[in-house]
Formats: sequence, structure tokens, C-alpha cells
Amino acid sequence: MNKPLILVVEDDAPVRNLITTTLKAHEYKFITAQNGNNAIMEASSHNPDIVLLDLGLPDIDGVEVIERIRTWSDMPIIVISARSEDKDKIDALDAGADDYLTKPFSVEELLARLRVTQRRLASNRNEGASSVFINGALRINYAAGCAYLGEDELHLTPIEYKILCLLAANVGKVLTHTFITQKIWGAAWENNVASLRVFMATLRKKIEVAPDSPQYIQTHIGVGYRMLRVE
Ligand code: CA
Repeated sequence: MNKPLILVVEDDAPVRNLITTTLKAHEYKFITAQNGNNAIMEASSHNPDIVLLDLGLPDIDGVEVIERIRTWSDMPIIVISARSEDKDKIDALDAGADDYLTKPFSVEELLARLRVTQRRLASNRNEGASSVFINGALRINYAAGCAYLGEDELHLTPIEYKILCLLAANVGKVLTHTFITQKIWGAAWENNVASLRVFMATLRKKIEVAPDSPQYIQTHIGVGYRMLRVE
């Protein structure tokens, strides 16, 4: 498989060098941009497979870069934020970012995020528009409105089924609490994270073999949830 082309957007030279050195060592192809306007230009002219985007840029805000790219492309965007920018990170995910890394991050974390994103790209290519979703032992038959774990049909409430389908449709991607609650209940439920947590707990009990160390649904504390691609 060809190594994907990564667009690295980072104004801080040491961080940029760490990223590009890592990419080079793992035979990724990359291009770089040092500000938001350049990032948009590079994204449109090179159509990279993945964008690594620092949120604190000298010209325009990283969230604006995402909004602009999303007007024409679904290319995966992994944002890089400082711990103090937690709110920005959530805004970035709501604007359409796929995943995030928090500074300081390790080389291993960076590579792991890239692998998750590449797996998602590969599985999206293979699946296309299918009426059946398969991930490990988990199977959703959309036409029948049923979900299975191995041979066993799962007895899900309508809300649990909706949440499962939403996570499945975005497998590999971190979904924020706001995004999930709006999709499931509409805008009125916007900050009802506590209710979502309850439904997640009951859903996990039904689909996870060990709900305390979940295989399918990952928790991102203070951010949201992600369904992982299970081998
Ligand atoms: Ca920065």
C-alpha cells in the first residue's frame, strides 16, 4: 500500500521538525505549512490524505481552517492542541476534525493516530454504501434494523440502536458529546451529557465483553466517544 501524503500545519519549528522527522523515519510523504492560509492553499492544491493541524496559528484560527477545508473535502484532519486549548479542541471536532493529539505528545501517539486514520480510510474504501456494517464480532443490519454480536441478536432500545448506528457510521472518528446528543435527541438536548453517559453505559454492557476495558467504544473524557475498528 502506498504511504499516504500528510500535510503538516504547525508554526512552531521544533514541533514541526519532530513531526516531519517522525514521518520521514516511517516513510510517509509530507508537505508542510506554517500558517492557516498556507494550509488551505496546500490542502487544495495537493489534496493530502491526512492533515495534521495545529490549532494555534499566527494568522487564522485552526477551527476556521477546518471549516474552510470542509466546504470542499472530507480529508481526515487530526488537530494538535495544547492542554489549555481544550475548548478549541472540542470546537475543532464539532467543525469536522476527525481526531486530536494533545501537546506534548509522543512519537508513538502520533503514529498510532495516523494508523487509526489510515485504517478508517481503507475500510471506507472497501465498504462503500453497504446495508450491513461489520466490525469484529459486531454486525448491524440496517435494512432489518437489527444488531448482532456474533450469532446473538442484541436487544437494544431505540436510543441505544441510534447511538450504535451513529458511532458505526463514524467508525474511527471521535464524536463530541454535543454532536452525539444533537444527532440523537436534537438541539434541545444539547448539554445533556449525563443522559448520554447512562445510555452509553447500558449500550456497552450489551456489546462489550468487558465493559470496563471496552473494545468497541472508547471514552474521551470531557470530549466524547469513538468506535474503534476491531481487527
Ligand atoms: Ca502554534
